[in-house]
Amino acid sequence: MADTKETNIQVVVRVRPRNAKEVRENSAAIISTNGVKCKELSVRTSANDARTYSFDKVFGPDADQSAIYSDVVSPILDEVLMGYNCTIFAYGQTGTGKTYTMEGDLDDCKGRHAGIIPRTLYNLFDRLEKDTPEFSVRVSFLEIYNEELRDLLSSDDAAAPKLKIFEDVNRKGSNDVHGMERILVTSAEDVISVLQKGSFKRQIAATKMNEASSRSHCIFTITVHIKDTTADGEDLLKIGKLNLVDLAGSENVGRSGAERGRAKEAGMINQSLLTLGRVINSLVEKSIHIPYRESKLTRLLQDSLGGKTKTCIIAAVSPAKINFEESLSTLDYAHRAK
Ligand code: ADP
Ligand code: MG
Repeated sequence: MADTKETNIQVVVRVRPRNAKEVRENSAAIISTNGVKCKELSVRTSANDARTYSFDKVFGPDADQSAIYSDVVSPILDEVLMGYNCTIFAYGQTGTGKTYTMEGDLDDCKGRHAGIIPRTLYNLFDRLEKDTPEFSVRVSFLEIYNEELRDLLSSDDAAAPKLKIFEDVNRKGSNDVHGMERILVTSAEDVISVLQKGSFKRQIAATKMNEASSRSHCIFTITVHIKDTTADGEDLLKIGKLNLVDLAGSENVGRSGAERGRAKEAGMINQSLLTLGRVINSLVEKSIHIPYRESKLTRLLQDSLGGKTKTCIIAAVSPAKINFEESLSTLDYAHRAK
């Protein structure tokens, strides 16, 4: 049982380097890892006390973008190419590296700061072009803000139009989005320009509405159709999907009950982030009822969470003492998903 658990939901932690502000303010690094890649990290809780956490993988501050790609993402892409639905989440406090991990430097998608999305696209097209005679790739890019869905790829407006989710009557346990753009793409470069536009649209929309983009979730989905032939010459269509999700900053969730109460009053509670935690815990505990329906994010990802799908949560943390509370909160959230 422990084995199947481990293979379906994987939890990894990435500790970023201390940033300039943390260094300037002499905020000590209180999270330490055993090198670039390991399975444990230690949080100093007082002068002579430390707490150790273990995860499927832990990446220290010196881990680069290519290490995350090859260790975490590449095996998941293998599954997608076999026709499975998979999801990778970046979770954590604002400023810990979620967008850096997911997108990285979109102006230099072949450079060393390129994140998961561009690396996946280059790798995907390389692999498909090498050994797949018939395939197609489509992408969509959505944002969820305040339980409202917006299409970041829509061409008809400067801002992102609102969308509605409905149940797909033909496929049980699967929801669809009415009017969402699903752009057919033929090369990684194609997608990257699409992605840059979407990312830009996200910022414009946030500025216009006076919102913080750190409070929205971004879901970039790659759907791959592969036509294969079986040994006895029959056609076989494999459809795999990869959702790459840059979650809202987890600082809005709050840690203790008291904080939660206050956050709620301020209208700060992020329903999708809370429900995602519950859905993942229910999947880990193999509960009968999985509360997918309680948020837009989990409804949208229902066919890619649980069952035969593979899920990976990348929890991003700062090593600095000033972020102690938030880092512990992130590590606890991540640990509960194991
Ligand atoms: P988030 O999306 O979680 O709010 P960002 O990805 O925007 O955080 O990261 C905040 C800043 O820290 C950015 O300037 C980013 O380039 C930098 N950063 C994050 N992670 C790393 C890392 N592992 N190495 C170098 N810089 C990083
Ligand atoms: Mg971000």
